[in-house]
Amino acid sequence: MLVFKFGGASVKNAEAIQNVSKILSLYATEKRLVVISAMGKTTNALEEIVQALWDKNVSTYKYLVEETYNFHLKILNQLFKEHHYAVHQEVESVFDFLRNKIDQPISDNFDFEYDQIVSLGEILSTLIVDAYLREEGHLSVWADTRKLIRTDRQYRDSNVDWTKTQELINERLLPLYKSAKLVVTQGFIGHTSEGFTTTLGREGSDYTAGILAYCTDAKSVTIWKDVPGMLNADPKWFENTIKLEQISFKEAIELAYYGASVIHPKTIKPLQNKQISLYVKSFIDPSAAGTVIQSSMDYDHLIPSFIFKLEQVLFSITPKDFSFIVEENLSDIFETLSKSGIKINLMQNSALSFSFAVDQNKINIDKVLDLFKDKYEVKFNANLELITIRHYDDETITKMIHNKTVLIEQKTRQTVRFLARKID
Ligand code: ASP
Ligand code: MG
Repeated sequence: MLVFKFGGASVKNAEAIQNVSKILSLYATEKRLVVISAMGKTTNALEEIVQALWDKNVSTYKYLVEETYNFHLKILNQLFKEHHYAVHQEVESVFDFLRNKIDQPISDNFDFEYDQIVSLGEILSTLIVDAYLREEGHLSVWADTRKLIRTDRQYRDSNVDWTKTQELINERLLPLYKSAKLVVTQGFIGHTSEGFTTTLGREGSDYTAGILAYCTDAKSVTIWKDVPGMLNADPKWFENTIKLEQISFKEAIELAYYGASVIHPKTIKPLQNKQISLYVKSFIDPSAAGTVIQSSMDYDHLIPSFIFKLEQVLFSITPKDFSFIVEENLSDIFETLSKSGIKINLMQNSALSFSFAVDQNKINIDKVLDLFKDKYEVKFNANLELITIRHYDDETITKMIHNKTVLIEQKTRQTVRFLARKID
């Protein structure tokens, strides 16, 4: 079994979907499991739709639903010249559900409502792509991950029940290959034991590919992207990026953990456990080698990798009762942060204070100050950048912190990190 994942950019219009069909033809002799994301920016659009529903903003809601409908309809009409296909009806019924939703009472759980609606992006994209693939002669079958991947009830960030998921995949997914060569399914979504839809967190489709590959004992996973592979830096910030030919699972986890956005960080662990190679390849140039992530660490240290995270805010908190930062304070601080869903990018402590950096756009500074103000003095520094260099040398460090004031520096044998402010 080969598991392929196609992200939003690789199915963003009719031409892109035609390209997906061509790529799949290159592997026609193999059993393929194809995981697809919502088309283009559909997930963002659906997030706005949920917000409008929540705010009971009827006119905005209706406008946004029609806009998303027209986006999908245009692709559908370009792919299928006639209207007798079942897929038209299936797409209509998804939008009928959305159109009716605004007239119905909703629950008091935003995250629950979010998952029921935002998941539809993947339902739409897979319905359309699967129908098109069949039209092109692929022996394709559509499968519903809302019947395959079982999760807990933590909506918007759900956790996989691996035992149950394995059972469902054995029962429901693997038998499909008796008649099909190719199964198309949704990334990003799962379901609770009551049958409600859950999502695995933004950009979670990579993770779906990892889960399905693990449970089907796949030969490999390929993530098809608009870049030639994993690069040593984000081409948005660097001119001369280098493609990493081969890196280890461990290195890929480290890079993803520090913020490299190529692969969702949770994807790699299940693959590493079963030694399933992960390829990152270009959907623009499918015959090019891409990057392979596997167990050998021989190539990891050859090229320094750079990860930039902009718009960081650093909070420093000091106990008001003059106590030191010891285990009790730390556990209190971590509990508060984890309860509020705040994700730390970097942390450090001294005798009297604990400092942590987070993404500025994921938090509200005043709310964080409020969380700690009873027991701690809290200070913050906004608009910082977090620079991580893996496999650094002195020259790269000098280059990276030139023109910057460094607030925090952390160094291990493989990794150096700077939290810094640009000098204007
Ligand atoms: N469509 C979802 C998102 O944009 C999942 C994914 O693309 O991986 O976050
Ligand atoms: Mg996406």
